[in-house]
Amino acid sequence: MVRDVPVEGSAGLVVLGWASGENGLNLRVRGQSEEVRLRCYCGRSHWIVREQFTDAGVRLLVSCHNCGVRSTYLMEGVGRPTA
Ligand SMILES: [Zn+2]
Repeated sequence: MVRDVPVEGSAGLVVLGWASGENGLNLRVRGQSEEVRLRCYCGRSHWIVREQFTDAGVRLLVSCHNCGVRSTYLMEGVGRPTA
C-alpha cells in the first residue's frame, strides 16, 4: 500500500529510503508501515531528488520537476560514503 502525502503536509518526515519511478517518488518513512508517495501543490509528483551529506547528518532534498517547489527531509540509516 502506498499513501499519498501532499508536500505541504510532509514537514518533519524522517526518510529511511526512497525510490523514484514512473509513479512518482516513494518514500519509506520512520514510524509508518506504508510507503508514502509525495505529491506536489501543482498535482504532479515528479521530483528531482538529491542526497546531501553534511556534518549534521544526511538530508534528502527534493524539488518539483514541474513547478520548482522544494522540500528537505532528514534521512536516517543512510551511511556516509567512505572517503
Ligand atoms: Zn509542483
